[in-house]
Amino acid sequence: MAGPDASSQKSASRRVAVLLPYPLGPYDYSVPADMELAVGDYVRVPLGPREILGVVWGEGLGEVAATKMKPIAGRFDAPPMPEAHRRFIDWVAAYTLSTPGTVMRMSLTAPKALEPPRATIAFGRGALSPDLNLTPARRRVLDVLEERGFGTAAELAEAAGCGVQVVRGLADAGALETVMLPPRYPASVFEQLNDGPTLSRDQAMATEKLKAKLGQGYSATLLDGVTGAGKTEVYFEAIAANIAAGRQTLVLLPEIALSAQLIDRFAKRFGTVPALWHSDVGPAGRRMTWRGVAEGKTKVVVGARSALFLPYPDLGLIVVDEEHEAAFKQEDGVIYHARDMAVARGHLDKFPVILVSATPSLESVVNAEAGRYERLFLPARHAGATLPKIGLIDMRRDRPPPRRFLSPVLTQAVTDALAAGEQALLFLNRRGYAPLTLCRTCGHRMQCPNCTAWLVEHRFQGLLRCHHCDHAEPIPSNCPQCDNAGSFAACGPGIERISDEVNALFPDARISLLASDMFQGFGSRGMALQEAIRQVRDHEVDIVIGTQIIAKGHHFPMLTLVGVVDADLGLTGGDLRASERTYQLLNQVAGRAGRAERPGRVLLQTYMPEHRVMQALADDQRDAFLQVESEERRAAAMPPFARLAALIVSGPDMAEVGHVARNLAQAAPRGDGMVVLGPAPAPLSMLRGLHRERLLLKTRRDVPVQQVLATWLGKVGVPGNVRVQVDIDPYSFL
Ligand code: ADP
Ligand code: ZN
Repeated sequence: MAGPDASSQKSASRRVAVLLPYPLGPYDYSVPADMELAVGDYVRVPLGPREILGVVWGEGLGEVAATKMKPIAGRFDAPPMPEAHRRFIDWVAAYTLSTPGTVMRMSLTAPKALEPPRATIAFGRGALSPDLNLTPARRRVLDVLEERGFGTAAELAEAAGCGVQVVRGLADAGALETVMLPPRYPASVFEQLNDGPTLSRDQAMATEKLKAKLGQGYSATLLDGVTGAGKTEVYFEAIAANIAAGRQTLVLLPEIALSAQLIDRFAKRFGTVPALWHSDVGPAGRRMTWRGVAEGKTKVVVGARSALFLPYPDLGLIVVDEEHEAAFKQEDGVIYHARDMAVARGHLDKFPVILVSATPSLESVVNAEAGRYERLFLPARHAGATLPKIGLIDMRRDRPPPRRFLSPVLTQAVTDALAAGEQALLFLNRRGYAPLTLCRTCGHRMQCPNCTAWLVEHRFQGLLRCHHCDHAEPIPSNCPQCDNAGSFAACGPGIERISDEVNALFPDARISLLASDMFQGFGSRGMALQEAIRQVRDHEVDIVIGTQIIAKGHHFPMLTLVGVVDADLGLTGGDLRASERTYQLLNQVAGRAGRAERPGRVLLQTYMPEHRVMQALADDQRDAFLQVESEERRAAAMPPFARLAALIVSGPDMAEVGHVARNLAQAAPRGDGMVVLGPAPAPLSMLRGLHRERLLLKTRRDVPVQQVLATWLGKVGVPGNVRVQVDIDPYSFL
């Protein structure tokens, strides 16, 4: 072999492909001679004038000339991104037609976690000086230490019922000794794995079947049973077995509002709270959870859809609770459905996935019928608690008084519940006071300047708000069109307006109003909501008026009446899943009634009592309803019997948007088993100041949609200020 000269030495320097959290790349970088680097390592690399975070994605691609290649600037001291996770990122990117970089970005949401964690400072007992001023609070802290040996300032303060400054004061006085604890990752130690309740026969059977799937490769199971049947208890057993086997578990929930009660139950069952992952988790929590997961120490994560993108090295089980929920669909950035991605993750990495619901999605039911998923039923409510009886109130006959929204029958039912010392929930899935404000003089309607949407009055805040963008404005005193004063009329009810009506009807009742916009502000939101829910649970409230935030997952022993103010609300509009979703939501709300010994009653106010959704709810005919729904979808060749992909063209210039949309239509794929609908202005034809047009590709199930779309999009030039978003399996058609 010839002796090395300068140039061959240069070309011999190793190159690797580094994926950056942007819609570009991966790019090649050279590895400095003294750096040990493996695929999956987190690195800092130069990009233009900056240094950014990336992940080594594989061996170099060779597309950058050796002379132009820049060296990797540094490597983080963190466990490399697991191979299974990298394959998952590539898979999600291919499925959603996103770039791997934008998908990977969702995994890099706690960059501080890439630094090795610091040890935790804790305190043990030090030397007590005779002249220490021993206040009662200080004494309690010392007593706590006597019992447990050591603890962090926050833990000791909490246990002693004092402020942290008391602990600090003791430390400063030398009465405490500082000890450094290794980082304590959340959900890393479980003290009571075998403490579940005695299961019913059905529950035990379901549990055994699920446990038998652990460690046995990929499987998907639909755990189906009415609210209160014990589905949570059953999947807790599967989690216990998965923890015992040393593997990680992810529980996906559609909303953080649901997590509080689940966490309580989890803590009681396992003696430890699970790690949490959602948008309201603060930086410290993120850092510890991300790192704990990456180290394989954190065994159970309960989170929103973004928790799918934590770098689990040893995931052995995913549970998707309330699998039918539309909130699992992420609608911006990378558009994906977390339930479907969870199944894909299990498939790629060969472990079981459990989908849980009392009202499974048609997608999952059809998958179960086709044998792609196994289905486990839990037939009855645990301990014989009866399901609430659902009655319909025909609003055409049982009319509320003028400008009121509660019918006499419902009002009477609330009166009866309160007289019996029980609680009532009035459900209306609409925030604010009124969905539309118009001028009585000229008919002017208050509209969002940025969106094709009416402004919603929020009377408590004194604002008109757009529910699609951040626009808010004070309620004007005069009509902006005809300048008449005091001429505005509120049209239709939101929950604030219902609360006015309830206050007038039941002046002595304790009323609680619950909607997502009432719990805002970083961190405090979850706490305030938790407190409001506790008040309901502990019967400090008589009447709850709430949106869907209260509809799900909660267990209120004294709540026996549920009244749905407008059961028809979700049925309007041309949404493919309108009936299915309305059934699911109302069934779930109904499940809030009578979950303990007292039987529940549910009343739905409707102008369409003959509608099949209302009939199915009243007759408790879920499966028959799903059957009809399924046949209709099959006949219309709609999902889950066909595949949809939407293209949303948007931009500030209407003409340009229209131009791109028409070009797309002209280049539309033609062929067997596919059809393109549109372009048409989107129902939200203006959103956040952008004009929008939609096209819809509908194909047979066996058509490779991603390939068809890629070819299609490749044919059409898109100017810089127009955006074409791809939505595979769309759930929103706005
Ligand atoms: P689901 O998830 O199907 O709505 P849960 O698991 O929440 O049902 O069960 C409803 C209630 O019944 C919970 O309070 C739960 O703790 C209780 N429960 C369920 N199964 C049992 C059991 N076998 N023994 C004791 N309590 C149970
Ligand atoms: Zn708006």
